[in-house]
This record gives sequence, structure tokens and C-alpha cells, in this order.
Amino acid sequence: MTQQTSPQSTLPSVRILGAGPAGIAAALALRKHNQATVEVLERASGPGGNSTSFQIDGIWCDYGSHRFHPVADPAVLGDVKALLGDDLLLQPRHGRIRLGGAWVHFPLKPLDALLRLPKSFAISLLGDSLTKKFRKKSTGPQTFSTVLYDGLGKTIAENFYFPYVSKLWGLPPEKLAVTLAERRVSGSSVGKILLKMARMLPGLRAPTTGRFFYPRKGFGQISTAVAAAAEAKGAVFNYGTNITRIEREGTSVKAVWTREGDQDLRHASDQIYSTIPLTTLVKLMDPPPPPEVIAAANAIKFRGMILLYLILETDQFTEFDAHYFPELSIPISRMSETKNYYSATGPKGLTILCAELPCDAGEKWWDMSDAELGAHFCTWLAGVGLPVTVPVRRCETRRIAHAYPVYDLEYEANFDKIDNWLLSLDGLLSFGRQGLFAHDNTHHAFAMAYAAAEVLTPDGRIDKTRWAEHREEFRSHRVED
Ligand SMILES: Cc1cc2nc3c(=O)[nH]c(=O)nc-3n(C[C@H](O)[C@H](O)[C@H](O)COP(=O)(O)OP(=O)(O)OC[C@H]3O[C@@H](n4cnc5c(N)ncnc54)[C@H](O)[C@@H]3O)c2cc1C
Repeated sequence: MTQQTSPQSTLPSVRILGAGPAGIAAALALRKHNQATVEVLERASGPGGNSTSFQIDGIWCDYGSHRFHPVADPAVLGDVKALLGDDLLLQPRHGRIRLGGAWVHFPLKPLDALLRLPKSFAISLLGDSLTKKFRKKSTGPQTFSTVLYDGLGKTIAENFYFPYVSKLWGLPPEKLAVTLAERRVSGSSVGKILLKMARMLPGLRAPTTGRFFYPRKGFGQISTAVAAAAEAKGAVFNYGTNITRIEREGTSVKAVWTREGDQDLRHASDQIYSTIPLTTLVKLMDPPPPPEVIAAANAIKFRGMILLYLILETDQFTEFDAHYFPELSIPISRMSETKNYYSATGPKGLTILCAELPCDAGEKWWDMSDAELGAHFCTWLAGVGLPVTVPVRRCETRRIAHAYPVYDLEYEANFDKIDNWLLSLDGLLSFGRQGLFAHDNTHHAFAMAYAAAEVLTPDGRIDKTRWAEHREEFRSHRVED
């Protein structure tokens, strides 16, 4: 056994588990004001987690469509802008969604929706809006389904949200919790959706309405820049680590253990900041937590995803950044053309389409070869009027196990059990999208990390009252698509 010590021992020491946006932003925030010595332990070979980018044949690709949303907290946005400088582009959103069999601009624009939505769909939507007051409200336990029927009515619920969420989470809307509607549905009534659309009108829109930030070298350039800044300020990053256990004495968390070759290393610290999935965190605890906490961790589920990258020998497939597919006839939820996100002019004669296929290990798609999945991808596109008529170089795939937290009807009780137990421990703080089972964006993960740095006291403890206040703030996070 070897003891890993911190380089600057007069400061509190913090070990951060995971170098996704939450982990690296915490490292930067802690080092910015020399608050603590920081060592980041990450399983992957680089920073970024689900917000990483990589190149395929000279084109930057992400793990599905990623945009940095201008609604980010000003402190977060300010740091990202300062770090990326001219490499951070402000791009117009230019997507399409299939509604009632027609392509409509997404985000919705009033005139476009008026012209393109099938008349029957539009009339039915209007009817839902006008009859809302007189509609009989659902009685009994509330679910995603009842909230959507009551708020938005049948047309948008059945033609958009229900098939879309069934695909994303692999569960019907009546088996999904109300929280999902709170976190994900941006307009809780047709009136609110119309108001949101009205804000897209010239004269009424803010400079960033209908726009998003995106770096020249893929979304992951944000993570690379933040990790580099943290490293420059003294944070130590250990990639490719194998965390074997987390040592605990009663309610006190003492150290993280890793295995390197045939050596077990003990990383003792004042605080462990964990941004890895809370289910993994529970399983690493030594001694294990009470049986009910283990049972809750076994019951809580993350949705996986296969990313399909179809490499086409043409400059551009369409002018759109993303296509959204709510309907069940096509198993992918979204397709993005990555070059369009950063207005790439090269490489010439080549483009890549990235499809998001929600899927868990064990489902039929999970073990299919890249070539088979590529062939299906082409068939699905032909089915929605987007036939691939140019040469396909090949299809590559990536698989992620923790794409989305699944908010089923039991999740809240299970999450609370785990969360309350973790909160009862000293020397440990769990946060980030995976650490709090939160359906959050990257800018939210950054905001959580900044809050986590703020609550570290000079003597290496956590200001628990302040953390509870931050946790309340996190409840207001709303997912931007
Ligand atoms: C398809 C898709 C599209 C998205 N689109 C957007 C978007 O447009 N805009 C946006 O803002 N956000 C988007 N997001 C969300 C964004 O990806 C996340 O909010 C962000 O990556 C969360 O950061 P995190 O650090 O909390 O978690 P993660 O990014 O998941 O990072 C967790 C890290 O922990 C590491 N880890 C896990 N287990 C271990 C272990 N045992 N030991 C060591 N390390 C471990 C992982 O390797 C990873 O690096 C999208 C997500 C998905 C899935």
C-alpha cells in the first residue's frame, strides 16, 4: 500500500472524482482562490465526460447534440467566454422537428409554424388551448402523463411529448414522474408555448434568443480549456484511474483507494468531491452503506445511448444543425450534422451525421455492429424523407451508459434514501449531473461545481447550511434542449 500525499499540506485537500464538467469546474474554482490542494481522479483518458469532443476524419464530433446555452449563470458564462475567447462562436439555432408528419423550424417560430404545421394539427392545438378551462382535470396520482394532458392538452402531448419521452426513457408517460415535466417541458400550456414563440419575433427577441454558444473545436473544447486552466493553477489530474473503494469510518469518509498495476494507492483527503454516478459511489463505499441504501442504488436507473456517426462523402447533408424526431416510427431521438454547429468549411467533400439512439445494454441495438447500425440509420432517414443518396464512407459508434437519469415513479423515494445517507457523511460531497441524478445541462454542472467550491471552509469542512441553500437553488434548473 502506498500513501498519496497532497503537495501543499497547509491547505485543505480535496480529491475530485470524475473530470466531467462538474469535476473540472470544481477543480478550477477551488484553485482560483488557492482554497485547497486538488487532485482529480478520472477513469477516462481525458477531461469532459459526456461533454467531450473527438475528431472523426478531421471533423469535430460530440456525444450527441451539445450547445452551450446563453441562459447560463453570468459567472459561468463569463468564465467560459474568458477561457475560449474568439474560439467561442455565437451561432443561430437552425433545427427542424417532425410534427404531424411535417418539418417545422425548431425552436418554433410563429410564421414558420403557421405556414408549415398541418392545418388539422394546428386547429386541434388551438382547440386544446381554447377548451383548457373546461377540460376535466385528472384525478388520482399525478404522473408525467396527467400533467401534460392537463396543461397542454391531447394534441401536443400525444403527438410530441409522449412518443418522445417513451423513446428517450424506454417507459410510457404514465410510468414517468411529474419531475420530468417540471425539468424538461419548457411551456406548461399552449399559451406559454405561444408566448415563447412570440419572443422569437424580430424586435421582441434578446440578442441571444434563438442562439447558442459553440466552440470552434467541438463542444469539448470548453472542458479542455477549463481543465487546462485548473491544471495551470495547480490542480493535479490523474486520468485512467481505477477507483477501487472509498474508505469510511462510521460517518467519516477518509480516503479514496485506487489500483495502479499491482499497487493499491490510498489518497487521503479532507474532502472527497464526487461527480461520478451516485450509484457507483454507493457501491464503492467500504464498509458498505445500510441495506436500504444499497437497495435504492440498485433500483435507480440511468438510460444509456448509442451515438451513431455516419460519415458521408459530401460537403453538407442539409443546412440544419439538428433534426428532432418525436415519432416512434424512427428509434433515434435526434440527428445533428456536426459541421453545421461550428460553420466548418472543411474538410471538403465530407460531412458527419450524428444520431442519438436511446438504448440500454441488453436491448437489440446495443450489440449490433457499426455496419448494421449504419444500414438501419440510412433506412430510418429514408423513412422520414431524407434519403442518403451520397456515398457512405462508414458508420462509427460510441456507447454511453449514463446519458439520462430515469425519473420513473419510484425514483424520488430511492434518490432521497441515497441522498440523505450521503448527506449524513462528513468528508464527502456528491454533485454534478451524475452525482445528484439531475437532468441538467453543462452550465448547471458548472454552477453546482462553483457552489461546491464556495461551501468549503478554510479548515476543510463543508458549510452544510450553505450547501442546503444551494441544493434548493439547483431545484430551479430547467433543461434547455
Ligand atoms: C445526448 C446528450 C445531449 C446533451 N446536450 C446538451 C446540450 O446541448 N447542452 C448542455 O449544456 N448539456 C447537454 N447535455 C448534458 C451534458 O452532457 C451534461 O450536463 C454534462 O456532461 C454533465 O457533467 P458532469 O460532470 O456532471 O457529468 P459527466 O459529463 O457525466 O462526467 C462524469 C465523469 O465521471 C467519470 N466517471 C464515472 N465513473 C467513474 C469512476 N468509477 N471513476 C472515475 N471517473 C468516473 C466519467 O468518465 C466522466 O468523465 C447532453 C447530454 C446528453 C447525454
